Amino acid sequence: MRIIIIGAGPGGYETAAEAASRGIEVVLISEGPLGGTCLNEGCIPTKALCSMSAPDLSRKAEVISQLQAGIAQLMRNKLITLVQGKASLAGGTSVKVGDQEFSGDALIIATGSVSATLPIPGADTALDSAAMLNLDKVPARLCVIGGGVIGLEFASIYRKFGSEVTVLEFCPNVLPRFDVDLAKRLKSALVRRGVTIETSARVTAVEGNVVKWTKNDKAFETQADCVLMAVGRRPNLASLNLDDAGIEYSPSGIAVDENMRTNVPGVYAIGDITGGMMLAHVASAQGRRALNHICGIEDAIDFSTVPAAVFTVPEAATVGRTEEECAGMDITCGKANYRANGKAVASGEADGWCKVIAEKSTGRILGVHILGAHASDIIHEAAVLVALGVTTKNARDIIHAHPTLSEVLLAAITAA
Ligand code: NAD
Repeated sequence: MRIIIIGAGPGGYETAAEAASRGIEVVLISEGPLGGTCLNEGCIPTKALCSMSAPDLSRKAEVISQLQAGIAQLMRNKLITLVQGKASLAGGTSVKVGDQEFSGDALIIATGSVSATLPIPGADTALDSAAMLNLDKVPARLCVIGGGVIGLEFASIYRKFGSEVTVLEFCPNVLPRFDVDLAKRLKSALVRRGVTIETSARVTAVEGNVVKWTKNDKAFETQADCVLMAVGRRPNLASLNLDDAGIEYSPSGIAVDENMRTNVPGVYAIGDITGGMMLAHVASAQGRRALNHICGIEDAIDFSTVPAAVFTVPEAATVGRTEEECAGMDITCGKANYRANGKAVASGEADGWCKVIAEKSTGRILGVHILGAHASDIIHEAAVLVALGVTTKNARDIIHAHPTLSEVLLAAITAA
C-alpha cells in the first residue's frame, strides 16, 4: 500500500512515521520545513522563550534545529519519500508538485493553518505570532490584540522580559472557550504580574504606535512599540485546488467525518485544515485515526477528552467539560489551592488552584481545570480519569506520592 501525505507538521510527519512502521509506503510532501508550524513557529519556539529571561534567538534556533534533526532521522526510512514543494490536488488521490505527479491508495491532507487577522485599518502593520518569535529586542510597550491562547502566552512571556503589556480581548472573558472560573483566575494572576487586560474591547484601528479601541461605546487608545495580532488561526486552504478536486470545504475547514474522510473516496484531512481544535496533539491523533481507517483497524481514540494547556506563568490546563458545558446537569465541584500543598509552598509556587467537576448522582469525573505550576503535566492524570469515566470515590482510593503537586488534584477530587 502507498499513501500520499501533504504537510509535514505533527499531523503529517507523525502519520508518515506510523504508516512506515506498519510497512506502508509513504510520499510526504511539504512546502515548508519539517515540523510545520508547531516546531518552526509555534509551540516549540514559544516554549523555548518561556524558559528564557530575555529573547535569545540563537538558543531558539538551536532548539528547533535539534528537534528538526530528530524528525529528519525519523523520516530516514526506506518506505518514506520526502518531497519538497507546493502540492496541489490532481483529482482522486493524485497530487501534483510542479511537473511531478504522485498517486497512492489514499491521500491525507495535513496543511495546517495560518494566522487570522482583522478587517481594520492598519491590521497589516501588526505582527503575527511567527514574527513575534523573531524579535531580538524587547519592546518597551507591547499591545496584544486577542486574549486567547497565543495572546496570553506572549503577554506572559514579554511581561517576564520587562515589557509593559496590554491585552485587548473582544469577549467578556479571556480564553473564551475555557472554563470561566479558570479563565478569570488566569486573568487575575496575569494582572497581578503587571499585565493590563481589557475585556469586551473592540479594536478599531492600528495607526503607527497607537491601537484604537472602544469599550461600552467609549473610545480608547493604547500606545505600543509593538502590536501582536492574535485573533485566531484559519485553515490553510489556499492553493490546494480543492474546488477542482471536488473536496467539500468552508472557510472554517475541510469537511470530514469521524474517520477524517472527506467527501472524495480515499482522501482524508487531519489537523488544523479541518478547523475545530487547532492543537498539535489533536492533529497527530486524527492522523492515527485516518491511518487506522485506511488499514481497516477500529480504534478507541477519544476525541471528546482532549487535554489542552496554556503556557503562561502560571500555567493553565484543562480536560473534559467546563462548568458552563455542564449547564442543566446535576454536578458537584471540588476545589483545592496550591497554597495548601506542601511541595508548592516549599518550592515557592503556591499560586494556583484546581477544580474537579463530577456528576452528582454517579460521582463520575467530567472535567478538570488547573491553574498553577506544572498544570500542563498534572492534567494528564486528570485526562485518564475523565477518559476512563473514573468516579471521585475510586480516584480518591488511588494513593498519590507525597510531597507532589499532583496531590492538589487528589485534594480537589476529595472536595468534590
Ligand atoms: P484563540 O481562538 O485561542 O484566541 C483568539 C482570541 O482573539 C479570542 O479570545 C477571541 O475572542 C479574540 N478576538 C477575536 N476577534 C477579536 C477582536 N476583533 N478584538 C480583540 N480580540 C479578538 O486563537 P489564538 O490564540 O490566535 O490561537 C490560535 C490557535 O492556536 C488556537 O486554536 C489555539 O488553541 C492554538 N494554540 C494552542 C496553543 C497551546 O495549546 N498552548 C498555543 C498557541 C496556539
